[in-house]
Amino acid sequence: MKTKILNFFTVIMISVFIFSCGNGDKQKDDEKRNRIRVISTITIIDDIAKQIGKDKIENFVICETGTDPHTYKPKPGDPKKVSESDLVFINGFGLEHWIEEMVRNAGGNKKVITVTQGLSAITDDQGYGDPDPHLWFNVEYAKTYAQNILEGLILADNNNKDYYKENYNNYIKELDSLHNWILENVKQIPESQRILITSHDAFRYFGLAYGFEVRALQGISTEAKVQTDDVRKLIDFIKEKGLKSVFIETSVNPKLLEQISSETGAKVGGTLYSDSLGDPGTETGTYIGAVKHNVNTIINALK
Ligand SMILES: [Zn+2]
Repeated sequence: MKTKILNFFTVIMISVFIFSCGNGDKQKDDEKRNRIRVISTITIIDDIAKQIGKDKIENFVICETGTDPHTYKPKPGDPKKVSESDLVFINGFGLEHWIEEMVRNAGGNKKVITVTQGLSAITDDQGYGDPDPHLWFNVEYAKTYAQNILEGLILADNNNKDYYKENYNNYIKELDSLHNWILENVKQIPESQRILITSHDAFRYFGLAYGFEVRALQGISTEAKVQTDDVRKLIDFIKEKGLKSVFIETSVNPKLLEQISSETGAKVGGTLYSDSLGDPGTETGTYIGAVKHNVNTIINALK
């Protein structure tokens, strides 16, 4: 019985396939079949891959919108998604401590590309000297992400090399103008107010690149427990500097920072995108859109 049903379906599938493939459709189907499958660990990398791969890739992401990669608990379907992909893009520097096991569970032999390759990380001076993985918030470093992604795509799909290169070149121009736009616009904030208080320490590269001092309630990973002493120190620091605003993040629980805000009188100046972009299809669903949102939020709160 089972075989009969299966045969019946196979016949239907083949008929549907034959009848649905007019020439244009067939070309579209072929194109779709030829697309390489790319999986990225975080939405930031996923978006950069999309900007370069465009319609020659089919993209998937492990930590979806609003998900914190530091504390991510892999889902049962993840290894399958990884095993069906031609390329795996990861950030590295300890952000995805769960990825090795996931790739192993997916059969091991995957092309894993670390998109921070060639960059060096600063270390966490509050914790145990771990590397700080949030390199993407220096837009100059995001260009290295793009370059490693380009090389990965060419490695997996050399036929479309020129297509990827053209998209990459255009994207680099956009990143260059974003970088200059930030440098120009942060000047609106008085120098003494260029201090960024956030839930977790995701903005140190941003601070170094664009001239902000950064302080966070938690270290570079949201896994760390917040100590009462750290809360006290941060409150004292905010009061001492007379800071007007603190910032919450979309992928981190805002509760403690909201308490600090009410205790110090510093407003919650807005929500920043740190380890996740906004919803796909919206403006902040792209890396460039999210960075612009962050910078505008920071400027409006601190100027
Ligand atoms: Zn983080």
